[in-house]
Order: sequence, then C-alpha cells, then structure tokens
Amino acid sequence: MSRARDTAQADGRQGETSPAAPAPSTDGDAHQVPRPLLAPDEPPAFEIINAGGRGSAVLLCDHASRRIPRRLGDLGLDAAALRDHIAWDPGAAEVARRLSDLLDAPLTASGYSRLVIDCNRPLQSPESVTERSAGIVIPGNLTLTPAERAARIDALFRPYHDAVDALLHDRRDRATAVLSIHSFTPTLNGGRRPWHAGISHWRDRRLAERLLAALRRDTTLTIGDNQPYPIDEDMDYSVPVHGDGRGLPAVMIEIRQDVIATAAAAAAWAARIADAYRAIDLPAPSAADPQ
Ligand SMILES: [Zn+2]
Repeated sequence: MSRARDTAQADGRQGETSPAAPAPSTDGDAHQVPRPLLAPDEPPAFEIINAGGRGSAVLLCDHASRRIPRRLGDLGLDAAALRDHIAWDPGAAEVARRLSDLLDAPLTASGYSRLVIDCNRPLQSPESVTERSAGIVIPGNLTLTPAERAARIDALFRPYHDAVDALLHDRRDRATAVLSIHSFTPTLNGGRRPWHAGISHWRDRRLAERLLAALRRDTTLTIGDNQPYPIDEDMDYSVPVHGDGRGLPAVMIEIRQDVIATAAAAAAWAARIADAYRAIDLPAPSAADPQ
C-alpha cells in the first residue's frame, strides 16, 4: 500500500508537473553525458528469486525496498520518513519471498524505494515520481529536470519491468498467473481499515473471484474485493500491463501491515495465500488487452 493517491486526492492536488527543461545534450561530449543513477557498487534495480521456479504463479513485489540510490542522498527526508510506509510496503517482500518458496514461483522484487520512482505507476502518472505522499513533501522530487527523471526511469523502472517482461515471455507456453504482492496501512485518514487483506483485479476478475472464495472459507478473515484499492490503469502498472496486457490472469494481493509485522506472521500469511492458490483452478488465458 501506502499509496500516495490517498492523500493526493484528499488534499485536492491534481498532479501538476514540473516545467519543461531542455533535454540533455546528446552531442557525444563526454562532459555532457549524465552519470548513471546507480554506482557500480550499489545493488541492482531488481532481484529475481527462484527464476527457474516451476509453479504457475509469477510473483512481483513492486514496493519491496526502501533503499535510495546514494546519489540522491535522503531525498530531503528524515530517517523516520525513510523507514515509513511512504517509502515501501513493509512486510510485503517477506510474504512474497515465502510465497516464492511455497509455490516454487519466480519472484521479481524491486530494489529501490517507490519514492525514487514508483514501479506500480504508469510513467505519465503524477505519482510516478511523487512530490508528496501521505501529506509529506518529498523535497528531492520537487524540481526534477527531464534528464533527472529519465535517469530514474532508465536505472530503475525500465530494468525492473524489462525483467518481468523477459520472464513472462520465456514462460509464454506455460500456465501462468501474475500475483503482485503489496501491503497497506492499518489506518487511513484516521479511519481503521477492516480488511486483513484484499484481492484486486483489473478487467479479468476470474482469478480474483476464485482466490476470494478460497480465502473467505476462513470466516474469521475479512478479505476485501477490490478493496482497499481497485486497480485503475491510470494509477496501476503491474497488473494492467503484465497481467491483462498479456491476457494472463492477474491479481494484486494487498495485506494489512499489522498482520504481517513479524517474520512468523508474514510466513503464516504466505502459507494461507499459497493454500488458497493451490485450491483453485487457474483460469485460462484471455485475449490480451492492447496497451
Ligand atoms: Zn504497494
């Protein structure tokens, strides 16, 4: 979770963009070539765990990390903000890793914070490189030049999604479903959120319906149907592009952060989701959605 759009909408902000600046020089002058965003000794833009997984699930974790590239410093934020849910989805990577193991599923996890560039936002979204999240201004994102924005896209967003594209392409003849793993805050704008977890879908809701039914067999759980967040092609990237865009059944699984706050709790939720996934019949691919 920690979707900035909650507060962006709440405070009426409509996604103004930075004024256009000149494009960087491409005349070959070495002094004009921008340095890459990531230094050679920094971790890569993404990690693939269990790349050769034989199961039908393909896992994504768009908000796995709160790391900031060294060159960007702290984006003007204090340490508390950089540990906060605005920077990442606490617990989501832990659940995703356990699921990767339980379902023998490849997992692609983003290596850097959503505050640098959000891998689950279309590039045209004002929240792609958000200037504000949960009421907190992100100083390091306020005056980006087009070149600086392009550097983040090239270093982080593209490699992550290119890796997912390649992985799905390699599996094109095998039954595959895309599961995008996120976490959300227990409260929003002072209100308690009732769902332990939510299953969200875009156009093809067959996989979501089956997983919902399986998870709801445990009547002690409150599972959201397209809650806490519906998927919107203007706001979401991974499910519309890698799922519906390829005709693959796909869901976003959101888990409330307080129910996966420890490794043991995250493992228990991974087991619950794995059990639900194993209990259903995977829907057949649909017609790919043209993007
Ligand atoms: Zn998320």
